[in-house]
Amino acid sequence: GHALVEHATPEVVATALVQAPAAPEPPGFATYAAQGGYATLRGARAGHLVTGAMLAALTASGLRGLGGAGFPVARKWQSVLANPAPRHLVVNADEGEPGTVKDRHCLETDLHRVLEGMLLAAVAIDAEACWFYLRDEYPWLRHALAREIAALDAAGLLPMPVHLRRGAGAYICGEETALLESLEGRRGYPRHKPPFPGQTGLFGHPTLIHNVETLWWLPDILGTPDGAARYASAGRRGRRGQRLFSVSGRVRDPGVKRAPAGITARELIEEYAGGMLPGHRFVAYLPGGASGGILPERLADLPLDFGTLEAEGCFVGSGAVIVLSEQDDLAAAVRNLLGFFRDESCGQCTPCRVGTAKGARLLDAPAWDRALLEELAQAMADGSICGLGQAAMNPVRSLLRFFPEAVP
Ligand code: SF4
Repeated sequence: GHALVEHATPEVVATALVQAPAAPEPPGFATYAAQGGYATLRGARAGHLVTGAMLAALTASGLRGLGGAGFPVARKWQSVLANPAPRHLVVNADEGEPGTVKDRHCLETDLHRVLEGMLLAAVAIDAEACWFYLRDEYPWLRHALAREIAALDAAGLLPMPVHLRRGAGAYICGEETALLESLEGRRGYPRHKPPFPGQTGLFGHPTLIHNVETLWWLPDILGTPDGAARYASAGRRGRRGQRLFSVSGRVRDPGVKRAPAGITARELIEEYAGGMLPGHRFVAYLPGGASGGILPERLADLPLDFGTLEAEGCFVGSGAVIVLSEQDDLAAAVRNLLGFFRDESCGQCTPCRVGTAKGARLLDAPAWDRALLEELAQAMADGSICGLGQAAMNPVRSLLRFFPEAVP
């Protein structure tokens, strides 16, 4: 992405390269194809798997967008299809929510599964082109993607051009409309919605934007006649499906966990993360990275699902569950999170630009002004253009509500 490269300073690039781990090489095209990969895509291109059948399978599966918003995938496709061609498909691989590493996991372990999902969606909506927007901090994945997309092209499997673009380290460019601005070569300022990208998206055309993990599930769901039913039946407490949770903090075995939709934080810790670290008592958890608020241990039996935690002023978002113990300073954690939002606010609108800075200053006071913080939080939630400003005060609000003893 020429337009984007200029935003990345040499320092950013150098740091990213130094931090690049000795990651396992994602399995290549030959390996994936030898295991039956791309059979579903070939079927779709040959007309054996038509868009209507894909939509029916997606509806039956209950798959939702797993970048954070949880919008039903079938309905998203339908809204894009309701608008005239040309259409675009955009992959949001700008994984930047603190604590979230699942997209990286998908790409490192099964990159072609993501690419097949992308091409299935692109064929379904008859896309002109695919745009893969990858965060700049994953340079080893950029190299792998460039190589494997070229291998797909050589194998004659690309129904349309696939453009690989790199971000430049801005958290806000993970917001879908800021991402579109960035792809168009402009500064990543979120757009007002409506119109939604499904109506007016990239270059003004109807655009389907999917997170990496959402696409990663598609070959499973669409690849066999019972794929949708198998996916749907994996949930708990009446929820459908599974998702990848990024579990971190004071647990024995942190990492990316493939777990049922509807699982609770307590179950996730006990069944998937090896329990708490020795010497640590479970006190609190962040259900959705930096933006999703903080919940106390006594509310660890709520399903970690879309539309459930909202009653507590929280949300699960991209599924980054951060577990805290009695050895963590909760007020310091909240201060840290607001500092993050202050730094990452794009500055386009006043409630967020001024509000995050003012909020951060208020948290530095020896005693927090509770009434003023609540008022500020409400003004930011009501007046901010995008989710960053609307949710930035969630951790502060949660602390005031659930942990009064931890508030200075
Ligand atoms: Fe930018 Fe914040 Fe406004 Fe979003 S809410 S547009 S991040 S200033």
